Amino acid sequence: MMDKVTMTVPVTLAHTASTPISSPTFLIGEDGWCTAQSQRIPATLNMPDLPELLNVPEVRHEPSPNCDPRPQGISVELLVIHNISLPPGKFNTPFIADLFCNRLNYDADPYFEQLRPLRVSAHFLIRRDGGVVQFVATTQRAWHAGVSSFGARERCNDFSIGIELEGTDYEPFTSPQYVALYALTHALLKRHGLTAVCGHSDIAPGRKTDPGPFFDWVQYQQAVVDRRAQVLTTPRLGFPIEG
Ligand SMILES: [Zn+2]
Repeated sequence: MMDKVTMTVPVTLAHTASTPISSPTFLIGEDGWCTAQSQRIPATLNMPDLPELLNVPEVRHEPSPNCDPRPQGISVELLVIHNISLPPGKFNTPFIADLFCNRLNYDADPYFEQLRPLRVSAHFLIRRDGGVVQFVATTQRAWHAGVSSFGARERCNDFSIGIELEGTDYEPFTSPQYVALYALTHALLKRHGLTAVCGHSDIAPGRKTDPGPFFDWVQYQQAVVDRRAQVLTTPRLGFPIEG
C-alpha cells in the first residue's frame, strides 16, 4: 500500500530570493472540486518577491455540461495527462475553456470547424502561467479519453481523471505548469485512490500523441512517486503510484 503520510512532493517555485516561497497547495473537496490553499508568505518579504507572489497559480471553476456520473461501483484509479492548444500552437486563448463549455465560436478560426460535432471536457486545464481551471468535479466522469484502454480495461473515462496541459507535441511545457501539476497530482492522490499515471497516447495509441515527447515524465515521476514505487516494465502504460 502507498504510505500517504511519508509521501512528499518536492515542489518549489522558481525563485531567486534567499527565502523560498512554498509551492501552491491544492485541496480536492468531498464534492470533487479543487481549491487553492493560502500561500505561506515569507517573513522577510522583499519588494522583488511581489511579482512572483502575485503570479501564484490559482484555481478557477468553470463547470462544463460535458460530464456525467461514473458507473456505479467504479472508483477513480488512473490519472491521464494530455496537451491541448486552440488553435493548435496558440497559447493563452479563451478557446479551450470555450470548447469544454460548449460556447466556442466556430467561426473564430478555420481549425474550429472540425470541432463542431465534439462534446468534450477534461477535469482540469493547466495554463501556460500555471493557472488551473477545473471544468468537472473529480467525482464525475469527464469526457477526455475517448476510445481508450488501460491494459485490458476499456473506456478509461469511467475510472480516470484527465488533466490538460496547455501546450503542443512540439515544445516544452513551462515550469509553472509543472509546479501546478505536481501540486494538483498530490491533492488528487490524497483524495482519490489513484494507482497509476499515464499519457493520453498510452491509452489511445495510434490515435492520440499527447502529452507528446516534450513532457518530462522523469521529472514528474520523481516529484510525485514514493521512492519505493517502481517503474513499470512496459513504459507505454505510464508508471504506478503504489509502491
Ligand atoms: Zn488528449
